[in-house]
Amino acid sequence: MKLILVFLLLIISAGSIAQHKPDLVISDPIIIKIADGSLLRDHDILVTGNRISGIIKHKMNYAEGVRVIDATGKYLIPGLWDMHIHFGGGDTLAEENKNLLPLFIAFGITAVRDASADLSPYVLKWRSEINNGKLLGPTIFTSGPKIEGINSIWVGDIEVGSKQELQKAMDSLQGLKVDFIKITDNTIKPEIYLAAISEARNRGYKISGHIPNAISIKKVSEAGLSSIEHMSYVLRAGSKNEEEIAANFAKGNISSRDVMPLVMESFDESYAVSAYKQLAKNGTAVVPTLSISRVTAYLDQEDHWNDDYLKYIGQGLKNTYWWRVNRAAGDSKEAIDLRHRIFEKSASLLPLLKKAGVHIIAGTDAGYLNSFDYPGLGLHTELELMVKYGLSPLEALQSSIINGPSFFNKQNIFGKIDQGFMADMILLNENPLTSISNTRTIHAVIKSGIYFSRSELDNMLKEAEKKASQGPFKPLQN
Ligand SMILES: [Zn+2]
Repeated sequence: MKLILVFLLLIISAGSIAQHKPDLVISDPIIIKIADGSLLRDHDILVTGNRISGIIKHKMNYAEGVRVIDATGKYLIPGLWDMHIHFGGGDTLAEENKNLLPLFIAFGITAVRDASADLSPYVLKWRSEINNGKLLGPTIFTSGPKIEGINSIWVGDIEVGSKQELQKAMDSLQGLKVDFIKITDNTIKPEIYLAAISEARNRGYKISGHIPNAISIKKVSEAGLSSIEHMSYVLRAGSKNEEEIAANFAKGNISSRDVMPLVMESFDESYAVSAYKQLAKNGTAVVPTLSISRVTAYLDQEDHWNDDYLKYIGQGLKNTYWWRVNRAAGDSKEAIDLRHRIFEKSASLLPLLKKAGVHIIAGTDAGYLNSFDYPGLGLHTELELMVKYGLSPLEALQSSIINGPSFFNKQNIFGKIDQGFMADMILLNENPLTSISNTRTIHAVIKSGIYFSRSELDNMLKEAEKKASQGPFKPLQN
């Protein structure tokens, strides 16, 4: 009897969420369905708490106390996801990294995937504070510290030299409740790298990363790597000599500097298409990160030190930009030419990936070290580059809004304007399907049900600018 009563009460309360007074109504926008690009007009979106509680036929009158936003003529899309960013730079830059969080919101980025660096304790803290509504920022999915080999160049990683150490590393990541596993290729042994992939998958985690020269892309895809970060690996996968190049590298016959020139020489389009079909079949996604690759490739031609956006970036973070700038400045004419050719060739492979059915996921690599690849703004640049190199505007939007959540199996609560989904949305002045750059025409952002008007977003930016001009910052005391 008691159970039945509880059950009845549950039904009544679930029903009343949709029927009763919503907190917020987005009145009469043009809703873009990202799954197929169709438009829905003459409807209102009801928001209750942090969720969309209903979509109803447009009406003029709502109960008193309901906040109604007139969105006539505006385009409504789900919030954008940036699936490759980095919070990093050490304790002294933690505050500057934290100051980046509102920038994402101001640019309509409602979720980010942090692909690891050296600030994991802070990032994990921000993740829960944002989820609890205590801190303003995008929903964070983080790998925590990444897995590497002994004495890698990276700070803050977990260095693993044996299978026992790998088990310990995975236990500790599981303890931190990370959202996925990140692995890179600096000093990790090939056999440990492959073991890490299967261990991560066995424990139910997605695993993404860079790929050691000694292992072919084909092999890591077969082993279960969930996503390849950066297009240069896609280029490598299209070389008909890929296995031979990997074997020669493993034997010490060639150096890392030899790899890409050999790949360029032996790239074969029909071989590439069949290799990419294998990636698709194995469920290996690709995060192209064209933004950072493009900036880095063309540092010889484009001086970014006068970019307006730098006013939002703290001095400490800006200082980390010199690492790539100085490295690029040391390149010979031949090396610069190779940089350009590798970028153009690898970016041009996007249509082949698409044709092969590979899941393409939008990510920028924005964050510390990655010069002039800006948190927030960068995702808009990334979408533009995707369109420039062969995706349609709709496909570019899908790579962020649909393929982002589906990487984490969250496609049933994120990435769609529908009842029960998270109320993360952007109102645009112009239609992004006619020109992808229209994602920049942000009229308002709704994050977890909270509405931010254009003037509130502008204030957020002003505040970010003010904070960026202050410093130096002290590390967080725990
Ligand atoms: Zn990265």
